[in-house]
Amino acid sequence: MLDHLSYTAPEPKVIAGAKGDWELVIGLEVHAQVASNAKLFSGASTGFGAEPNSHVAFVDAAMPGMLPVINEFCVAQAVRTGLGLKAAINLRSAFDRKNYFYPDLPQGYQISQLYHPIVGEGEVIVDMGPGVARRVRIERIHLEQDAGKSIHDMDPNMSFVDLNRTGVALMEIVSRPDIRGPEEAAAYVAKLRQIMRYLGTCDGNMQNGNLRADVNVSVCQPGAYERYQETGDFGHLGTRCEIKNMNSMRFIQAAIEHEARRQIAIIEDGGQIVQETRLYDPDKGETRSMRSKEEAHDYRYFPDPDLLPLEIEQAWVDGIGAGMPELPDEKKARFVKELGLSEYDAGVLTAEVENADYFEAVAQGRDGKQAANWVINELFGRLNKEGLSVETSPVSAAQLGGVIDLIASGAISGKIAKDLFEILWTEGGDPAEIVESRGMKQVTDTGAIEAEVDRIIAENPAQVEKAKQNPKLAGWFVGQVLKATGGKANPAVVNELVARKLGG
Ligand code: ADP
Ligand code: MG
Repeated sequence: MLDHLSYTAPEPKVIAGAKGDWELVIGLEVHAQVASNAKLFSGASTGFGAEPNSHVAFVDAAMPGMLPVINEFCVAQAVRTGLGLKAAINLRSAFDRKNYFYPDLPQGYQISQLYHPIVGEGEVIVDMGPGVARRVRIERIHLEQDAGKSIHDMDPNMSFVDLNRTGVALMEIVSRPDIRGPEEAAAYVAKLRQIMRYLGTCDGNMQNGNLRADVNVSVCQPGAYERYQETGDFGHLGTRCEIKNMNSMRFIQAAIEHEARRQIAIIEDGGQIVQETRLYDPDKGETRSMRSKEEAHDYRYFPDPDLLPLEIEQAWVDGIGAGMPELPDEKKARFVKELGLSEYDAGVLTAEVENADYFEAVAQGRDGKQAANWVINELFGRLNKEGLSVETSPVSAAQLGGVIDLIASGAISGKIAKDLFEILWTEGGDPAEIVESRGMKQVTDTGAIEAEVDRIIAENPAQVEKAKQNPKLAGWFVGQVLKATGGKANPAVVNELVARKLGG
């Protein structure tokens, strides 16, 4: 965690009320779909966007007599995620039934891990700017089944159900209430997403619902949170409301902001916050009540008799630990330390794992800063403009590396390199061959350049007089020579020749 050894915690978000200041306290329950081809307890596919009800095993449909069989790969993914969050791995965990009736849950219960989760306490360092970060404690991660999807808007008289998602493995990642503002909440989800994408344990696709969050929000007066931290007593915190199922960073922030203001208004009005579950309406920009604690379900949790407690071995966990990839914080620190990149550039290059891989392929054996410049400015700039990503980039890392090699060897100038990049982008090909076959090589032959310099000096006597008075005007001659040579003359050589001739 090199670069996070020392940081200052950001100030909590303060909202001024009519009667005083209020601080926010936020805890998140993030549901991350496990990246796995098969479901948690069946061999049915998890493929997204398939024909409704085409990925449903008998056990997913809760056919009588069907028994769940744990998918070892999903367990490994949860362990991998736990290790990535520096968390304790519980060698013994167990599955419980959470009973409730819903049409998209054919079993009549969800298999989850209430009492003995597979992953215990961990942490996430959430970057909030240079040298500023928040440590968010993870309480637990448990494995559970996702539900299916009820479809109410296809027919005026009927509802439909699609069970493709039923039984897909989810990791529920529960944070402590350590998040202190809307931006932090979004940054926390972004950091979790980034880490899981590096680990390959969740694809992080929020649009498809593969990463969604229940957001718990309360408000308290300054000082109360510190008392909670000192004592661990939740009584110092305000009553919380939970906003369900948020799958957009923007909505998470807007919902928290709105919910905090709603709570402050109620308290300042002499009222009390009722613990309840609320839904965010993005069109109206507000939250509304879904159910209160009083009408909360009694889930009648009990250990699932169809599943033995899950026992894993330390050696197996260690094996997963040995295969862990470099994580974003470590990669970023290495880019700064070993390649000399700025914190900012290193942050940009490590934000998405695919971008980091691309960059590393370009930087391999080359100047890191130059590689970073080309990747960030030329490549990302162009990809953004055309709505592409590194995976769909017309210019490969090998091609871009080839361009940088040609600059480094002096074969082409930086200006010609941009033309070359354009050719690679539109036509493809081998950089060195293109430079050769299209005569793009930089002219370093002093004789040829000198002839051009002489010609331009001879043709512009008035400019020469002016330049002799004001040496800054030499730049005009350099520009003319570069133009006349189609940008191929080595600028350093031109500069030197022009200065010598004008000075002489
Ligand atoms: P429950 O079992 O009722 O869901 P948990 O103890 O599991 O409650 O907490 C759920 C989430 O709510 C956790 O992420 C936790 O950090 C958060 N949380 C608990 N108390 C508060 C509070 N006062 N304000 C904000 N978030 C809270
Ligand atoms: Mg909970």
